[in-house]
Amino acid sequence: MANVLILGAGYAGLRAAKLLAKHASQLTITIVNDHPYHYESTQLHEVAVGNKEPADITFSLRASLPDNVNLVVDTVTKIDRDQQRVELAHHDPLPYDYLINSLGFESETFGIPGAEENALPLIDIDTAVAARKHLEETLAHFSQSQDPDDLRIIVCGAGFTSIEYLGELVHRLPKLIDQYHLPADQIKIDCIEAMPKVLPMFSQDLADYAVHYLESHGVTFHTSTPITQIDPGVVHSKDTSYTAHTIIWTTGVQGSHVIADSGYAQKRNRVMVQDDLTVKDHPNEYIIGDVSAVPDPASGRLYPTTAQIAIAQADTAAHNIRAQVSGRTPSKFTFHSLGTVCSLGPTSGVAEINMLGHWKFKGVIVGPLKKLVNDRSVLELANVRTMLESN
Ligand code: NAD
Repeated sequence: MANVLILGAGYAGLRAAKLLAKHASQLTITIVNDHPYHYESTQLHEVAVGNKEPADITFSLRASLPDNVNLVVDTVTKIDRDQQRVELAHHDPLPYDYLINSLGFESETFGIPGAEENALPLIDIDTAVAARKHLEETLAHFSQSQDPDDLRIIVCGAGFTSIEYLGELVHRLPKLIDQYHLPADQIKIDCIEAMPKVLPMFSQDLADYAVHYLESHGVTFHTSTPITQIDPGVVHSKDTSYTAHTIIWTTGVQGSHVIADSGYAQKRNRVMVQDDLTVKDHPNEYIIGDVSAVPDPASGRLYPTTAQIAIAQADTAAHNIRAQVSGRTPSKFTFHSLGTVCSLGPTSGVAEINMLGHWKFKGVIVGPLKKLVNDRSVLELANVRTMLESN
């Protein structure tokens, strides 16, 4: 029996475990994850604003994994590639014949002074809950302090997570204004972006739609404004400083630090994999999801790290391990993006879909579309019952 060890139960790891479990007569399958649950990282911004509870976007790993997949709840500290074993914080090291490394992402501060200490990242359930608590406590504090900065919110970056967070925030704001008796005209939301364009992955008309939608709900964008430092309650760029008591840090992600700690050749903790998703000279080691770097042959640039590509990579890795165990040749990874959806709160958004042609959508039609995408990912990873429960 070949021993397959999967690290991380995000989109990539969980999908690989479920696929391999269908062929468990030849395999022993173990998945290690630092929490006993999977969370929908594409919906963290909804928890961070308070439009959803953590339970709405998490599901139990043991309940959703097939019985023939072993689950170890622990933190991976290092991959000992010479000994073919994985070191854990609390258990003995786990050996492997085949490794699927899908350890996922962490916040990226790009070394900007004060970003880690003075801004709130959105990377997992704990940070999303902390951001919500901070936002609500800060707004509530205004009634005592009368400090205008209690009513100011700065979102750093104008990529996917920032825009989806802002969309949820402006949707919830009227309820927060009512709840804490806030002066609506004094609330100030700034979004500060280094590049000239907001949502660069969308065509200009859709990016403009998102900007106008958010501006009409009170958001001010500052583009071509790289953040250089964050002090408590102050975001600095080269020429200006902005003050706020809530600072959200959504300027991009890097792969897990375990990648660098384990001695891989890497950039921002992402490893350039071969075309079958293995690591050079390690044909039994697959790296998938946000810890992998895969060039798009069409553009020559790296594919962005999305749930969609993580799930597609898991399909290839699981297929290839089955092929190797049966003495067949592994396949190359190919990817056709089905498109991209960016929500603007629960009822609006922008989307570019690549199915039977290329389609652009904006406005209320994207609300149900995004819900369909979320339901589909829960369905692929867990089961129908979980999907129904998450509604
Ligand atoms: P991102 O890369 O999409 O956006 C980060 C933004 O922050 C960029 O526009 C960047 O220019 C800006 N930035 C970086 N440094 C800055 C600085 N010093 N000052 C000001 N701005 C700065 O990153 P994200 O939004 O964190 O998303 C992470 C990954 O997850 C991405 O690959 C994204 O595609 C994916 N994601 C996808 C979805 C979806 O498909 N709906 C949703 C969320 C995230």
